[in-house]
Amino acid sequence: MTKTIKEVKDTAKALKTGFKLFFSKPITCRFPPETLLTKEFRGRHVFNPRKCTSCSLCAKVCPNKAIEMVEKIEENTTVQSQIKVVRRPQIDYAKCCFCGLCVDVCPTGALQTTNFSTMVALDKDELLHSPEKLAQHAELKMPEKPKIKDLTSWGRSRSLWVLDYFTGCCFIEAIPWVSSGFDMERFGLLLTGSPRHADVLLIGGYVTLKTLKRIIRIYQQIPQPKFVIAFGSCSMSGGTYWDSYNTIKRIADYIPVDVWVAGCPPRPEVIGVAIVTAMNAIQSGYEGKKEEVRLTEELEVPRVTEERDGLKKNEFSVPFGPQHPASGNFQLKLKIDGEIVKEATPQVGYLHRGFEKLMEYRTWYQNVMLVQRVCVLDGASYELAYSGSVEKLADIKVPERARYLRVIQAELSRIQSHLLNFGLIAGAAGFETAQMITWGDREKILLLLEQLTGGRIYQIYTVPGGVRRNTPDNFKEKALKTTNHIRERLKIYDELFIENPTFKIRTLGIGKVPSDTAIKHDITGPNLRASSVKFDIRKNTPYAAYHELDFQVPVFKEGDAYHRTKIRRLEIEESLNLLEEVLNKLPSGPFRKRFGVFNRVPEGEALHCVESARGELCFHLVSNGSKTPYRVKIRGPTFDTTLVMLPKLLREVYVADVPVIYWSLDNCPGDHDR
Ligand code: SF4
Ligand code: SF4
Ligand code: SF4
Repeated sequence: MTKTIKEVKDTAKALKTGFKLFFSKPITCRFPPETLLTKEFRGRHVFNPRKCTSCSLCAKVCPNKAIEMVEKIEENTTVQSQIKVVRRPQIDYAKCCFCGLCVDVCPTGALQTTNFSTMVALDKDELLHSPEKLAQHAELKMPEKPKIKDLTSWGRSRSLWVLDYFTGCCFIEAIPWVSSGFDMERFGLLLTGSPRHADVLLIGGYVTLKTLKRIIRIYQQIPQPKFVIAFGSCSMSGGTYWDSYNTIKRIADYIPVDVWVAGCPPRPEVIGVAIVTAMNAIQSGYEGKKEEVRLTEELEVPRVTEERDGLKKNEFSVPFGPQHPASGNFQLKLKIDGEIVKEATPQVGYLHRGFEKLMEYRTWYQNVMLVQRVCVLDGASYELAYSGSVEKLADIKVPERARYLRVIQAELSRIQSHLLNFGLIAGAAGFETAQMITWGDREKILLLLEQLTGGRIYQIYTVPGGVRRNTPDNFKEKALKTTNHIRERLKIYDELFIENPTFKIRTLGIGKVPSDTAIKHDITGPNLRASSVKFDIRKNTPYAAYHELDFQVPVFKEGDAYHRTKIRRLEIEESLNLLEEVLNKLPSGPFRKRFGVFNRVPEGEALHCVESARGELCFHLVSNGSKTPYRVKIRGPTFDTTLVMLPKLLREVYVADVPVIYWSLDNCPGDHDR
């Protein structure tokens, strides 16, 4: 009887939540061309030739070698009929990562960024912007609908099934594409996981040799006619990692590409523009480039063979990953017997870029645009840890206002990271509605980050000496409105999945990590605190302004998948408290101490650690007094969790629990692959 009453109550609660959601205003933008873009977004440049002194500083600072100085003949308007040869910047948007360092160094303000974000081209050469083109105002021109050539082409253009193979951090902007923020399925763009059913292959971001083999294999399985969209500067040119030994520089050297999308990462709505571009081309009879795949000797496409080595009669080898939505760019090779996992072996290297080495080839300042890319899910923490370490080396005292602004960036980043994890764990447990809702709400936090920093994902905001820009107008009001909104939504998350009996059945007691196991494996962050260890760097060795702020560190003793989720929910609440406190206390005054782009740093070494969304994150830097770091070592929060502890945790569990355990640990493959 008690059980029946409880069931009735639970059902009534679920209906009430559904009813509330039905009448809540969704954050879904109309498309095209409405976007959630703010005026602060750091997008395409605009160039004023009259202000340019040809100093070439912009080209020298560009970490991606995207700027080339080209000679131009200009008439001298003051001395009639005199002409002179001048050098002007030309930008290749197939290489640019929109970091804005070129704008920072331009002494005259000749180069600025605008908030124009949509750069889609059928021909990659269109992404090369001459000084004249840069001087022109950019505006979104949606491709015009062509005449219908024939019924087959029209039909084909209207039923595109897209297979996304996101190989790098570009994935982070594809997530909102399918969430309630952008919801591209409204336009009939269906995502499919099967190459045999796909028409369009969307390649997102950074490509390594390991992923290239898989991309080629997928491409070969898609039936003709097929279309390829290359997303993000990495797949076009190597992007930010143009000098990494593990980077495939140009995907077009291997498979034909039909549509190019610039950005790093491109914004979610730009995927929509790219698909509309492809649809129009197909409607007018375009059948895709029918070139053959170009293989080299080293690039033999892997074949599917039945691997029986080391397997007993009833055992099978099943890959989990390396593709979203399974595991991110990481693979677990599972040896299973029926429903039970016998062994889980991590397969790494899909995202390896060699960050620590790359940093030795960039100046101390140029590295501010590299560090956050180690983990796209919470880049702000990497900016904080790196800048803190440089400041210790160079003995820089950060202005008070900057310390507080850094807390705002870090806590916003923690919230969006936890919301992202909610979507992943909810999805893994079969709660897709919760996934849509939490990822839709994450858009509100990203909008605030964009307003504060100029970037949604890669903010490049905390730099040695302070932060890069001051708060925009009315930021406090906008931020408080958002914190109130998220507070209300937390109650909905509780009703929708966190306190939902089915979610509890799927997560309670699953993937248990006792406190001694957590300590032995050097686990940190929410995963450690869910196993009863109260350790948080913000409290234990405070940095930025945390020692002046009031917040709690939630702890649970159970150490299972459920409590790891619940702790993140409580941490969001604490982050909201912190944000409100900081916004009310924000000191006035300067927000940055000068630290030049080509500054040297005194000889020595320094270590700085921060509490990232996933736990302890440290940068150990060694300087020999030059313009670049001598040695860099990053201690990320996921290495021990995922590569050392997880395989042990997965032994003898049900296959169905693998995604739940995996996402409850909140892995970031980029962090441990580095
Ligand atoms: S924004 Fe960054 S990558 Fe792009 S041209 Fe400027 S410095 Fe280079
Ligand atoms: S745009 Fe600015 S930094 Fe670049 S050459 Fe001209 S003045 Fe120098
Ligand atoms: S670095 Fe930029 S372009 Fe490359 S994969 Fe990451 S987001 Fe995409």
